[in-house]
Parts: sequence; structure tokens; C-alpha cells
Amino acid sequence: MACLFCQIAQGEIPATVVYHGDGVTAFRDIAPQAPVHILIIPDQHIGGVADVGQDHENLAGRLIRVAAEVARQEGIAERGYRLIINQGRDAGQSVDHLHVHLLAGRTLPTTMV
Ligand code: 5GP
Ligand code: ZN
Repeated sequence: MACLFCQIAQGEIPATVVYHGDGVTAFRDIAPQAPVHILIIPDQHIGGVADVGQDHENLAGRLIRVAAEVARQEGIAERGYRLIINQGRDAGQSVDHLHVHLLAGRTLPTTMV
């Protein structure tokens, strides 16, 4: 099992886990880009958005629900937050296991790129 995020989901590699349940794990990014920077992943291996199939639709929705739950838990829900998913090379995806970035804690740039 070579996938870094599979190993984090299984507790084989340490991470600061803030949520674990319903087949979803959320943990703090090792190189935070904002005061709150959390990654939300499915425990099962899905390579990225491009690999989300019909069987994953519930799970994909759960990632967003957990992101909102974690945002409330972190106390940043009222001020707001941004969710980002990078897919592929041009977007800068560096880990090939689907993950949602939850960014918050400061005013984020209004530009998309
Ligand atoms: P991507 O660039 O693929 O959208 O995001 C990958 C993210 O994973 C990056 O923000 C990076 O800092 C984070 N990351 C990479 N390796 C590790 C690790 O071993 N532990 C944690 N907690 N985050 C990691
Ligand atoms: Zn994986």
C-alpha cells in the first residue's frame, strides 16, 4: 500500500486527525496555506475527481457534509471558508487520492487563479 492518504486514513502514518467516521477522515495539512487548512478524504482510495464514479456519489457528498461539520467544529463556520479540489497536473494535484482542502481563518483572495 503505497498511497500516502490511504495510510493516513488507516492510521499507519501519523496526522492530526480532526474527524474520522462514515468512511471519511479529516486531518490538518502538513504545510498550511491558511490558519485553518484541513484535508477531507474518503478512507477508500479514489484517485481524484476524475475517478469519482456513480458508486461514489454518496461518499462524494459526504466529503462536503463533513467539511461543513469540521468548519463548525473549528469555529470558523460563521466567518466562512473555502473548499478546493485540485484535479490533475495543471491544477497542481500532488497527492493522487481525492481530497477536499478546507481553508479558513483569514480573508482569502477573491481571484480564482
Ligand atoms: P494537492 O496539491 O494534491 O491538492 O494537495 C496535497 C496536500 O497534501 C498539500 O497541501 C500538502 O501540503 C499535503 N500533504 C502532503 N503530504 C502530507 C502529509 O504527509 N501529511 C499531511 N498532513 N499533509 C500532507
Ligand atoms: Zn489512497
